[in-house]
Amino acid sequence: MRVYVNDLTTGELVARELETHEYPSQITVFCDRCGDEVTGDYVVSEHMTSPERLEVARAHLRGEGWVCDKTGDYCPDCKTKVGHRG
Ligand SMILES: [Zn+2]
Repeated sequence: MRVYVNDLTTGELVARELETHEYPSQITVFCDRCGDEVTGDYVVSEHMTSPERLEVARAHLRGEGWVCDKTGDYCPDCKTKVGHRG
């Protein structure tokens, strides 16, 4: 199956041929401070747990300036206001 998903490095939509264990999934990440949400289509594997699937989306958002770690998910506007360094 061929699908269009956000490329993890460029963020642009790219065509991808899926393996049999893979499927496209719409994943939403919320900013823990302002509630801003970003939804994207990502390729996940049926072998992944749900935290691992969320991590796929978070990895993409880190490239967009988000801070996503064990303290929570923060959009580019909020990450500086919650005392994150770097
Ligand atoms: Zn925010």
